[in-house]
Amino acid sequence: NILIVGSINLDTVLSQQQSPGVNGISALYGRCDFANGGKGTNQASAVAKLGGRAALVGCVGDDDAGGSQLEALEALGVDTTFVRRLPGVQTGRAFMMLRPDKTYSSANIVGANGFLVPQYVEAALDARRFDLVIMQLEMPLETVYRTYELARDRGVPVIFDPGPARSIPLERFEGIFILTPNEDETEALTGVRVRNRAGALRASRLLWCETHARYILLKLGARGAYLFDGGRGEFFPAFPIEAVDSTGAGDSFTAELGLRLCLGEDIRAAVRAANAAGAICASRMGGQPAVPTQEEVRAFLER
Ligand code: ADP
Repeated sequence: NILIVGSINLDTVLSQQQSPGVNGISALYGRCDFANGGKGTNQASAVAKLGGRAALVGCVGDDDAGGSQLEALEALGVDTTFVRRLPGVQTGRAFMMLRPDKTYSSANIVGANGFLVPQYVEAALDARRFDLVIMQLEMPLETVYRTYELARDRGVPVIFDPGPARSIPLERFEGIFILTPNEDETEALTGVRVRNRAGALRASRLLWCETHARYILLKLGARGAYLFDGGRGEFFPAFPIEAVDSTGAGDSFTAELGLRLCLGEDIRAAVRAANAAGAICASRMGGQPAVPTQEEVRAFLER
């Protein structure tokens, strides 16, 4: 039973670029698609798809996008009891323009996500007993800090996925359960670009000294993951796959990690399974549709 606290966006994705828009000439794209996005939505739906019970705390507006996002979350199997529909506010949006080289530029509207206040998190934590909280950075920073404190005061462990990459003070996460930054987030938080084991250890030590987290767990893309427990570090190499699209890999990783830990598995087994979930996702096209099921993760690990 996992509570995810985070953002809900309606994504608009322009792809198949036909001509670039330079010097006042507008770019031409071949396709426009809509997707359910926001890091809160993505992680909650990853937990649900991997077979866990996921409830989301978040905010949408009373516009059409808010209605469609609520419906989409329910269709994905996410419990939306704690999603607020706020009058007079727009639902968060992200607009992505994909380039032929697979990089993209994006523009975002924070919208209702900016109204996610600690009281909404508190109400959810008081309504039900959760085994774990997972949160990210696409909400007011004070809500991120308070979510940790509210969960801690109730004895609920917190996994903090500190994306999108940004430098924030970490002292208020003193004693948090797990911090899971990817490479860019690690660099934003520590100034260290992780290129090898020594770098992973250095960055982990810096993060650990600020938080005294039970575990620092670096997500290192095609290289795998690095786990640090305050004393020693251990490298978990990625599973070799043919990489197709890494969108959603981090969400699959964090969701599988959380689920395994909720089931009482030890941290090393959980990281290995998380690596498998991330690898499967990276071997497929797309974000949410590429997140594996638990059966797929098990089959992959037993190969
Ligand atoms: P994010 O999506 O947050 O940037 P990463 O790209 O680091 O996260 O990916 C998360 C996890 O997914 C990695 O730690 C790894 O376990 C797995 N993964 C990502 N890319 C690959 C890949 N090319 N091959 C194998 N595993 C991968």
